[in-house]
Amino acid sequence: MPAEFFSAISNQKTPPVYKFFDGKAWKESTSGKTITVHSPIHGETVGELQSVTPGEIDHVMQSALTAQPAWEATPLNKRVSVTHLAADWIRHFEDYLTALLVREIGKTDSEARSEIKRTADLTDYFADEVQSIRGETLDSDNFPGYDKGRIAMVERVAYGAVVAIAPFNYPVNLAASKIVPALLMGNAVVFKPPTQGGISGVHLTRMFEKAGVPAGIISCVTGGGTDVGDYLASHPKVDVITFTGSSDTGAAIARKAGMKPLVFECGGNNPAVVLPDADMNLTAREIIKGGYQYAGQRCTAIKYVLGSQGVLDQLLPVVLTQMGESVKMGDPRSPETKLVGPVISVSAAGQFQQWIDESVKLGAKIVTGGSRKGNYMEPTILTGVTPDMPVVTHEVFGPLVSFISIKSMDEAVTIINDSMFGLQASVFTKDEGTGLTFAKQLNVGTVQINGSPQRGPDHFPFLGVKRSGLGVQGVRYSLEAMSRLKPVVINKPQ
Ligand code: NAP
Repeated sequence: MPAEFFSAISNQKTPPVYKFFDGKAWKESTSGKTITVHSPIHGETVGELQSVTPGEIDHVMQSALTAQPAWEATPLNKRVSVTHLAADWIRHFEDYLTALLVREIGKTDSEARSEIKRTADLTDYFADEVQSIRGETLDSDNFPGYDKGRIAMVERVAYGAVVAIAPFNYPVNLAASKIVPALLMGNAVVFKPPTQGGISGVHLTRMFEKAGVPAGIISCVTGGGTDVGDYLASHPKVDVITFTGSSDTGAAIARKAGMKPLVFECGGNNPAVVLPDADMNLTAREIIKGGYQYAGQRCTAIKYVLGSQGVLDQLLPVVLTQMGESVKMGDPRSPETKLVGPVISVSAAGQFQQWIDESVKLGAKIVTGGSRKGNYMEPTILTGVTPDMPVVTHEVFGPLVSFISIKSMDEAVTIINDSMFGLQASVFTKDEGTGLTFAKQLNVGTVQINGSPQRGPDHFPFLGVKRSGLGVQGVRYSLEAMSRLKPVVINKPQ
């Protein structure tokens, strides 16, 4: 069944050369160029992706804009049915997509499987939630100086053509979290998957096509971020860009996009603040899960721990003991591997190693880990870290947690609020009231009390401040972000 279902999307050779989807048909690019996707596990070729041309993007954009009005005019209940069908296909191919994700981005089976299941659930949830999005009417006489002469009927309408750009670390889930709300609100979607993760993105697109999304309404353009992504970001026919990726890429897209709505989820560099009364076992468990799951390649990973020297001295042995039981680096396909597989590329691992080495030269101490073989980085803990060291000023998208000793809670607030990132922060304390008071002082998207940073459940609002993002995601918020208000005002004759 998978071979037949997916036959159109590649040339079916080994390794396959995948096609791009122009909204109507699966095609090879006239560029004649492809990009090879290597598995981070062992470097073998997973497949090749088309590198589409600017002319092909122009064509896709035009098809999207031509098809969009009829899609927006399609009854919502039909858009909802198509979406539920797409969720059914994702669920149907859970095993196949899980195996693909493991190979393409180096997740363990359970991490990959949970991404696929969550994507199907999210897709269904969006389709249910959209049915409660309603307009409203407003009377004019609420405002001083006005009588009842006007009524505004405010409805939500689509923007038009949405460009959706997804990152490598959740190439299915974070693609669907953009595509689905945009489609449900009546937009056409031009999807640019990440290069690493692009094969999974191509498969996801096929699910929407097969679910019955009409011609022109979803397309999938593959190719390098700095050419295809860049061209899309500055394309004059794009109405909205919804993007997840690093803060640097987000800033580059924002500079080129011009005056259009941008919904960005960018880098995180999330702290965990540990108060003296914290439950050390629970705190250690959450730091390990937060720091090392998927080798630390999550925007919501814990990157540094803030506590008094006394607290850190108490916490560190507990973390090390628990790490011995619950963390083991290795091939993500091996049942012996726990949480830490490879990081996405040798060059990324090299960059992280450099920041670790520079921080050690500045006085940080390696407690465990600290080296790598190729793109397999040992789960690492550094102590004696200060906020100005490279491991804190950069987002180390790998398995590293840094311990920073602080003199007071005010110092913790200053360090967190002075950071250029502001996605999430965790506070560990047995006194939830103290946690709440502390949470109110932090300039971050979300504060977690007694839990590691996380995106889910997906109907909670999810956002980053400063260089961590623009706008708000989360089921209802994403649906709202993919539509705009349109008031029509009836002026009664006086
Ligand atoms: P990335 O390198 O910034 O790439 C993200 C996407 O942007 C990819 O599709 C990439 O394409 C594309 N791209 C690259 N350069 C571009 C350009 N100049 N113009 C337009 N598009 C461009 O990020 P990543 O390494 O894939 O993902 C990891 C980052 O994402 C981390 O910083 C992480 O914190 C962040 N992230 C944030 C969240 C959140 O919710 N806040 C969630 C997940 C990940 P190519 O792959 O072809 O280069």
